[in-house]
Amino acid sequence: MAWDFSTDPEFEKKLDWARAFVREEVEPLDVLFPGCEYLPLDPQRRTIVDPLKQRVRDAGLWAAHLGPELGGQGFGAVALTLLNEILGRTDWGPIVFGTQAPDTGNAEILARFGTREQRERYLDPLLAGEIFSCFSMTEPQGGADPRVFTTRAVRDGEDWVINGRKYWSSNAAVASFFIVVAITDPNVGVHQGASTFLVPRDTPGVVIEASHHLFGAHRHEPGHSLVRYEDVRVPAHAMLGEPGRGFEVAQSRLAGGRLHHAMRAIGVAQRAIDMMAERAKSRFTQGSSLADKQFVQGFIADSYTELMPFRLAVLHAAWLIDTQGWNGARTEIAALKVLTPKVIQSIVLRAIQVHGGIGATEQLPLVDMLMHGLTLGLADGPTEAHKVNLARQLLTRYDADDPMWPTEFLGRRLEVARAKYGDLVDTVPSVPDGPWA
Ligand SMILES: Cc1cc2nc3c(=O)[nH]c(=O)nc-3n(C[C@H](O)[C@H](O)[C@H](O)COP(=O)(O)OP(=O)(O)OC[C@H]3O[C@@H](n4cnc5c(N)ncnc54)[C@H](O)[C@@H]3O)c2cc1C
Repeated sequence: MAWDFSTDPEFEKKLDWARAFVREEVEPLDVLFPGCEYLPLDPQRRTIVDPLKQRVRDAGLWAAHLGPELGGQGFGAVALTLLNEILGRTDWGPIVFGTQAPDTGNAEILARFGTREQRERYLDPLLAGEIFSCFSMTEPQGGADPRVFTTRAVRDGEDWVINGRKYWSSNAAVASFFIVVAITDPNVGVHQGASTFLVPRDTPGVVIEASHHLFGAHRHEPGHSLVRYEDVRVPAHAMLGEPGRGFEVAQSRLAGGRLHHAMRAIGVAQRAIDMMAERAKSRFTQGSSLADKQFVQGFIADSYTELMPFRLAVLHAAWLIDTQGWNGARTEIAALKVLTPKVIQSIVLRAIQVHGGIGATEQLPLVDMLMHGLTLGLADGPTEAHKVNLARQLLTRYDADDPMWPTEFLGRRLEVARAKYGDLVDTVPSVPDGPWA
């Protein structure tokens, strides 16, 4: 089967437009309103941001991750990769283009499992960029292993009553609704006994105990909250999807989210390379520019040789999704989840080094970018858990039953060769002395 990442010329024009628009119109927001992306728009920010969003809509690029049934253009994942790598260069880009996490994934859950009333009340304003949402799954006693989750939802008449605590509920402080994963059947394993609920923010019993911030984040950012659900009563139709299928619902949003992070990571890493190259050409030491030093040349070459295959791997996963659906790309997405933080960290660390001291200050965005790389190795599950998952997926492709002699053992290969061509050759090489012989 041929591989084809090409995009039609019409979409190329849109990308050219997006590139210039992001550089000239959106990048200034990062320094004008730092850390305000997830704050409800005050009148001043609205004066600037709303017209920008409208220009994105007019350009036909609003919420480009969505299919036409949800008001998107249905460009597909390859096209989305090319757009998201442009948006990944900025903090405000995803907001101005309506593709910010975690709202993208939450919107997909609502679209798929919400009632009409829920969709009108929450999905429409979410897609319009008017409200924010929160995905509340991780618990304080451990996030990487859902078997330690204890948050319960118990049926009471027509309602469900939720009790428990969640941690790392990003944007809880500004969200209009939460998607909460809770155990509904403790008698079976968590992957069969958890369900997903839509909990409006103003439901009595939803208590934000604390909001924690990543190192270097602005205090006004909503951060990541420790949320207590205390006798939170929601109606039966608040359950999104089938009872006991909470993890399937959760996974359906996480796969897209992971790939979107990888797409934007290309932009982050490319920006670091751009900064590194600019600094290398403009800074002189010991009689020549940094660009003339072989160490620095090595930094630039190594960074490019890391980014280029990563970008191709993202495009390849996107192409698989476009041609075979999400299931066809499961292994590639797991691999990208592992690779994404590594690529950002590795390239950004070199960029910091080339900048010298100023690279480590808040005057440049590099440490922020590094932090982003670090957290992508934790959010949506830590790298180690994904490696285990990836290895398990890969191992299902192999059958092996001989504990002594692997298939590539010379004796076995000779056996195969003898069976195939033994009659046609004078002598088949013999196996060297050893236990096989
Ligand atoms: C920026 C950010 C945003 C987040 N947003 C959300 C959100 O919106 N909603 C939400 O529900 N959660 C969110 N999370 C939580 C995230 O999913 C968890 O942090 C993650 O699942 C890890 O859980 P933990 O932090 O409790 O680490 P732990 O479970 O304590 O794991 C700690 C470490 O143990 C090791 N480890 C864990 N499991 C394994 C394994 N199977 N094999 C080998 N080693 C292992 C790893 O080194 C891991 O980093 C967010 C996290 C971050 C950092």
